[in-house]
Amino acid sequence: MTEKREKLKLYHERRKVAHSGEPKGTERVKKHKKPIFVVQKHAASHLHYDFRLEIGGVLKSWAIPKGPSMNPKDKRLAVPTDDHPLAYATFEGIIPEGNYGAGAVMVWDTGSFDNVKTEAIETCLKEGRIEILLHGHKLQGAFALIRAGSQTDERWLLIKMRDMSADLSSDVVADKPNSVLSGKSIEEIAAKGKSHADD
Ligand code: MN
Repeated sequence: MTEKREKLKLYHERRKVAHSGEPKGTERVKKHKKPIFVVQKHAASHLHYDFRLEIGGVLKSWAIPKGPSMNPKDKRLAVPTDDHPLAYATFEGIIPEGNYGAGAVMVWDTGSFDNVKTEAIETCLKEGRIEILLHGHKLQGAFALIRAGSQTDERWLLIKMRDMSADLSSDVVADKPNSVLSGKSIEEIAAKGKSHADD
């Protein structure tokens, strides 16, 4: 098994991509010149935000129940989830009922990122302390992703670092709810899935 296939093993174990309409992981997606991040708003049984970073040919992923914040005072719980294929970064649509994570998926924000630390990003990931600059449509500037909790109960925290882009007064998740890809709301994406199922 290739290294990438090994990384995507859990992704495939949990999903039947032939039925779910999600990327199969076999798409030819070239490694980006600058690594990318994506935040997907996911109306599964509980609405959450999936934060993904391009590292080592896959999208390393964390589920953030409350979503990201531009306020350095907020520490947002980020629970690691399975690595996703790079093609997932542009996936927006419906995961049909009966599939893992069924519900609407939106590309809430995306862009490139820079590793701020001198160590390679893979090392930062292993050591549980990532510091990055995000160049998104909504998320901008320095963010830290820090491992808390134990090896068996892995929890991370996503925290906005203090810089010019920090914002103590606004709520980015509430103020900018729609897709940066299509401009659609999560309800509009979900509704399209319904009309599709009817015809
Ligand atoms: Mn999700």
